[in-house]
Amino acid sequence: MSNTKKSLTLLSELGEFGLIEHLTSNLPTYHKSTIKGIGDDAAVLDYGDKYLVMTTDMLMEGIHFDLVYTPMKHLGYKAAVVNFSDVYAMNAHPRQLLVSIAISKKFSVEALDEFYSGLRLACERYGVDLVGGDTSSSLTGLAISITAVGEVDKDKITYRSSAKENDLICVTGDLGAAYLGLQVLEREKKIYTESVGSQPKLDEYDYILQRQLKPETQKDIIDFFEKNNIVPTAMIDISDGLSSELLHICKQSEKGCSIYQQKIPIADQTIKVAQEFHLEPMICALNGGEDYELLFTLPLEKYDIILARNDVSIIGHITDQHAGCNLVTELGQQIPLLAQGWNAYKDEDKQ
Ligand code: ADP
Ligand code: MG
Repeated sequence: MSNTKKSLTLLSELGEFGLIEHLTSNLPTYHKSTIKGIGDDAAVLDYGDKYLVMTTDMLMEGIHFDLVYTPMKHLGYKAAVVNFSDVYAMNAHPRQLLVSIAISKKFSVEALDEFYSGLRLACERYGVDLVGGDTSSSLTGLAISITAVGEVDKDKITYRSSAKENDLICVTGDLGAAYLGLQVLEREKKIYTESVGSQPKLDEYDYILQRQLKPETQKDIIDFFEKNNIVPTAMIDISDGLSSELLHICKQSEKGCSIYQQKIPIADQTIKVAQEFHLEPMICALNGGEDYELLFTLPLEKYDIILARNDVSIIGHITDQHAGCNLVTELGQQIPLLAQGWNAYKDEDKQ
C-alpha cells in the first residue's frame, strides 16, 4: 500500500463562486429548451410563447438565520421574497413556488404554522401559487429550500451579460440597511444572552430591522418597465452587496464602470446606525448584503423617464472594459471596486 497521501483542497481556497465554477464547468446541455443555464439570477427555459425562469435558494438555521431574533412568520416571508427577487432580476414575473423543509424535533406545529403564514402572505402579496415541495426531518435545526418559477415575454428577458458602453447604471431603493439591521440584532442578542432579563431596545431601528427581517422585492419597477416598454440592457438583484453585483454585470458583459460616491442611495437611519457602530456608511452600502434591490443598466436615452422615478438612483455609467470598475469619490479620486460581498466559504466570514 502506498502511503503518499493526496492532499485535499479546502473549500476556503475556492470561495463560493470559485466552487460553483469548479463544480459546474463544462456541463453539457442536452436540450434546445435550455436557453440559459448556470451563471445568472435564474435559469431560462423555452416552453412555448414565453420564457420560463427558475431559481432556487437554500436557507440554513445558524448560517442564514438565527431563530433567537427571527420570528418564524418573517422567515417564511423572507424565504419566499428572496426567490421572487431573483425572478424579477430576469425582468420576469414570479408565478409558482416550491417549498422544501427539513425540521428537527424542537419545532412545534404552531411554529411551522407561523412559517407558512409568512409564506402565504408573500405569495398573496406577489400573486404567486405555492404548488409543492418536500418535507423531511433534520438532526440539527431547520433547513429551507425554495424554488420559484416565473415567466417573461421572450423579447424582455434580461441577463447580466448585455450591458453596453455608456449605459446608465441604476439602483432601486437604498443600500446597506439590511446589513446594519443584522448588526443591531446581533448586538442585542449578545446583550440579552449576557445579562438575563434585559429587554432589547429596538424602537429607533425600525427601518433597518424591517429591511433585514422582512425585505420586500422590486415588483413595481418591473411593472413600470413593462408599462413603458423599457427593457434594461442588464440586471441583477443585490443580495451580496452593490460592488459584488456590479462586478458580476461588468465581468459578464465584458465592460467597466464608473459609479459616483455621492449618488449612492443610503437612508438616514442607515447612516446614523453605521456611525453608532463606527462603520463607514459607504462601505456598508457597497458591501453589505441582503438589500434585495435591483441593479440595472439602461440606454442613455432613457435618462428622463428613469429620472422621474424617485425610488431609483442613477449612480453611474458603463465604460470600456479597459477603464476598469471604479468608484469615484466626492473629491474625484478613482477607487477600484472590490468584491467584498458575502463569501460562504471564507474562514473569517459568517452570516
Ligand atoms: P444568486 O445570488 O442570484 O442566488 P448564486 O450566486 O447563488 O446566485 O448562483 C450563481 C449561479 O450559479 C446561478 O446560475 C445558480 O443557479 C448557479 N449555482 C449555484 N450553486 C450551484 C450548484 N451547487 N450547482 C449548480 N449550479 C449552481
Ligand atoms: Mg440573484
